[in-house]
Amino acid sequence: MIVLDSSFINAKLQVEGRGNGIKTVIPNMLLLANSLHRDPAEVTKFFGTELGAQTTWTAETERAVVNGAHTTQDLQSNLFKYVEKFVLCPGCRLPETIYKIKSETIYSVCAACGAKEPVDMAHKLTGTILAHDKKRKKDKKDAEKKEDKTAKKKGDKKSKVRADAEHFYYVLLFSFFSVSLSLSFLCSSFPLSLPRT
Ligand SMILES: [Zn+2]
Repeated sequence: MIVLDSSFINAKLQVEGRGNGIKTVIPNMLLLANSLHRDPAEVTKFFGTELGAQTTWTAETERAVVNGAHTTQDLQSNLFKYVEKFVLCPGCRLPETIYKIKSETIYSVCAACGAKEPVDMAHKLTGTILAHDKKRKKDKKDAEKKEDKTAKKKGDKKSKVRADAEHFYYVLLFSFFSVSLSLSFLCSSFPLSLPRT
């Protein structure tokens, strides 16, 4: 169970740049998202939809950026809103939910009490959640396809090795018979005649 306190978004919040390029960096986004069992890209995006700001999540550098200068309080109150709307079970209030997506509707399914409720589909974030889900499914399919291809290639290679071995065996057998045939022919043509005594 998670405890919601200020340690999620703490004093490490960094404001970088200036003027139009000013942005707020959330350094502990991955930790935060993991503790909520949510995608860091999704949590980052939520701040953007609420604050009307552009956001970026870069998985390689684990960097969450919200354009503009925002205070810890701003982000914290929005984090609570996110948890309330998308993480907590509406039945038992535990943060034990996962998404189940069916016909473009996102359901929040609770692992603790079994409740299944649709999330607020009017919220802008639902578009992002659906897009992420589609991408995940596509990536999974692509990975499976690639695996199939590799396995097929390996199989082809194996059968080629086997065919080569068989070919070699037949050539060897054929040569052996040819040689013995020639030998027997030679022997019958020039029979060794032992002098009789
Ligand atoms: Zn529940």
